[in-house]
Amino acid sequence: MEEAKPLNFLEEIVSKDLAQGKHQSILTRFPPEPNGYLHIGHAKSICLNFGLAKRYGGATNLRFDDTNPVTEDTEYVDSIRNDIKWLGFDWVDEFYASDYFDQLYAFAVELIKKGLAYVEDATPEEIAAMKGTPTQPGTNSPCRSRSVEENLDLFERMKNGEFKEGSRTLRAKVDMASPNMQLRDPLMYRIKFAHHHRTGDKWCIYPMYDFAHGQSDAIEHITHSICTLEFSSHRPLYNWFIEQLNLFPSTQYEFARLNLTYTVMSKRKLLQLVNEKHVTGWDDPRMPTISGLRRRGYTPESIRMFCDKIGVAQRENLIDVSLLEFCIREDLNKTALRRMVVFNPLKVVITNWPAGKVDMIESENNPEDETAGTRLVPFSGEIYIEQDDFMENPPSKYFRLGIGNYVRLKAGYIIKAESVIKDEQGNVTEVHCTYEPNSRSGEDTSGIKAKGTLHYVSAAHAIPVTVREYDRLFKVENVAATDDDFRTLLNPDSLTIVENALAEPAFLDDDTNSRYQFMRKGYFTLDKDTEGKNLIFNRTVTLKDGWAKAGN
Ligand code: ATP
Ligand code: MG
Repeated sequence: MEEAKPLNFLEEIVSKDLAQGKHQSILTRFPPEPNGYLHIGHAKSICLNFGLAKRYGGATNLRFDDTNPVTEDTEYVDSIRNDIKWLGFDWVDEFYASDYFDQLYAFAVELIKKGLAYVEDATPEEIAAMKGTPTQPGTNSPCRSRSVEENLDLFERMKNGEFKEGSRTLRAKVDMASPNMQLRDPLMYRIKFAHHHRTGDKWCIYPMYDFAHGQSDAIEHITHSICTLEFSSHRPLYNWFIEQLNLFPSTQYEFARLNLTYTVMSKRKLLQLVNEKHVTGWDDPRMPTISGLRRRGYTPESIRMFCDKIGVAQRENLIDVSLLEFCIREDLNKTALRRMVVFNPLKVVITNWPAGKVDMIESENNPEDETAGTRLVPFSGEIYIEQDDFMENPPSKYFRLGIGNYVRLKAGYIIKAESVIKDEQGNVTEVHCTYEPNSRSGEDTSGIKAKGTLHYVSAAHAIPVTVREYDRLFKVENVAATDDDFRTLLNPDSLTIVENALAEPAFLDDDTNSRYQFMRKGYFTLDKDTEGKNLIFNRTVTLKDGWAKAGN
C-alpha cells in the first residue's frame, strides 16, 4: 500500500539528495516554541519530520525554539515532549535554541567584525519607517556606517545591560533596497530584561527567530529544515546567514500549514480561549490540541492516519474536520468495546418474566474483533430503554417499540409492548411488555421477525453515569476567514451534558483506558474527571457524520 503511493515533493527531494550523494543520511528537526500546547497542525509537522527521517533511515531532533523568554514556560516543554511520544515518535537528540546563546553571540560578533552587522539606535517605529514598502526601497539608517570597533563596543554593552529595552538593536547589513523586505537589514538581537525559563537572568539580549533558527539547524547539521509557507520569504535570509558564517549548509523547505474547519489553530488564539475560560483548559476535549484530542478519545493511530491522508501540499488549503472524524471512526470501529448506555431512560416492565429471575447473556465486546472477548449483559423483568425508542401510537414504518410492535433487545429477548402507564400530565412513565421466552439472542427459535434492535439496561444492574456530548467549537467553517472577533463565533452548543444516563455494569470491570462504542450512540471514552464509581464519559465522535447529513 505504502509503495503504491506517489512520493510527495519532500520525499522526492530527499531521495534525490541521497541518490546523488548530497547527504549520506538525513537529519530533520521538529522545532516547537514552548509557548503553548501542541495542536493538530503541529501533528502534521511532527508526522512529516519524523516520518521523512524514518522512511529514509535518518533521524529527527527535538529542538525547543525558546528565543522569546516572555511567553515560554517549562509546563509547555513537558506537554510537548509528552504529546510527541504519545503520537508514537522519538527523537535522537533534544536541544534548546537557548543552548546556543553563547555560540549565537559569537556568530553575531563575527558578523560585526566582517562589517555585516551593526548596532541600531532607532526606535522600532523609526526602523519601520526606514524600511520602505514592497514597491519602494528603504533608506539606510545613519547607524549603518558605524565602525566595527564602535559596533563591537555597543553590542557588548547591550549584552552587559547598559541600555534600556527597546533603545538599541543589532541588525544585519544586507540590502535596504532588496525587493525582499526580509533582507532590508533585519534585526538579529533585541534587548529584553526578561527571565528565561532555562538561562535565567544570564542574558538581557535575545536573538530573533531569523538569526537563531538557521544557525541552530546548521550547528546540529540538520539536512532538511522543513517549515510552513509563511517562511518562504525568509529563506534568502536563512541562506545569507549560513553563507556569511560559513556554516553547515542546512536547507529550508516549505509546505502548507494545516488549516481545519470549525476551529482555530493559532496558539495565541488557543491561549486566549483558555485564559478567558471559553474552554476548561488546553486539554478541553473541544480543543484542536493533541492533549484535547487525546482526552476526547482520539488515538495516536487515527491522528497519524489523518496526517497521512491530507498529505503534503505547497499551497494553503482548508481541510474538512470530518476527515479527522472519519479517521477516528475507522480506528475505533476496529478497537472500541461495544457497550449499552441509555441516555433518557424509560422504564419497561416485562409482565410475563419470572419474578426475581436474571439472565446473564454473553455478548461480544466487538464483533469486528474476535480477540476482544465477551462480557455478560444482565437481563431482567425491569429494564430501561431510550424514551425516544417508544411511541404509543406508532406510524406504520416505525421500527422501534410501539403498542403491538415486536422489537429485539440487543443481547436479550424479543419483546412486544402491550400497555402504558401515564402520569397526571399524560406522559408515559412505564411501558408494559411481554417477552418471547424462545427468543434469547444467539438461541432464538421463536420465528418472530422483530423490526428493530434496541439497546437497554437492566434496572437493577444499571449504573448511573454522566455523558459529555461535544460538538464543534465554532459555528462557522472557516473561522480565520471572517473579520469578526473569533470569540463571537464560538458554538454555544459545543457541550451538552447528559446527567443520570444509565449504563450496563460491565464498565465497572473495564480498564480505565478503554474506548467504547455506545450502541447506536457513538464512540466514547472515560474522562479524567471520573472519581470512584461516578463514571464520566466524553463523546469522541458520533457514529455517522451528522453534519453532512443535516446539510451543514
Ligand atoms: P502557531 O501559529 O499555532 O503559534 P507556530 O508556527 O508559531 O504555530 P511553533 O511552535 O513555532 O508554532 O511550530 C513548530 C513547528 O510546527 C513549526 O515548524 C511550524 O511550522 C509547525 N506548525 C505550526 N502550525 C502548523 C500547522 N497548522 N500546520 C503544519 N505545521 C505547523
Ligand atoms: Mg512560531
